[in-house]
Amino acid sequence: MSGNILEIYKYGSSVLRMPTEIITVITPEIRQLVEDMYVTMYEDDGAGLSANQVGVSLNLCVIGKNLGEKPREHFPMLNIQILEQEGTEKEIEGCLSIPGIREPVSRATKIKVRYQDLELNTIEEEFKGFYARVIQHELDHLKGILFIDRISPVRRSLLKRRLSAIAETQKHHR
Ligand SMILES: [Zn+2]
Repeated sequence: MSGNILEIYKYGSSVLRMPTEIITVITPEIRQLVEDMYVTMYEDDGAGLSANQVGVSLNLCVIGKNLGEKPREHFPMLNIQILEQEGTEKEIEGCLSIPGIREPVSRATKIKVRYQDLELNTIEEEFKGFYARVIQHELDHLKGILFIDRISPVRRSLLKRRLSAIAETQKHHR
């Protein structure tokens, strides 16, 4: 199975602000979507990508490979929940849906999550460092939250014009 590059929905698209739907059945369309999401993520040099960023409101994201000190192959995460979290750390983040804007965001340094794989097996796993950050960023997407919601109101107001300019390009996705 090979993937196609999909359109990335950007700030201002309503699908990015809606909580996504839990997945209970894996269809061939979902398998294809995951392949397409890998290709789309790497095309734009992303570390993770959520289904609603390509316009599909499902509780599914893909995580890129080689993000941490223990690199692994890219993998999909379905129906994610955070079970435990530890510590906080502020680092610069960006988002494929908010091009050109990068801001420091506080995240837990270590998380324990429960999610499902593409066979709907339930997995509980701990992540730290960059993986933990990327997963928290994607989990936010799946709830309709964007990283700019987590920066200071002052910083956000300074970005207002640039955000409006991005939203202007997404009128057809409102
Ligand atoms: Zn993002």
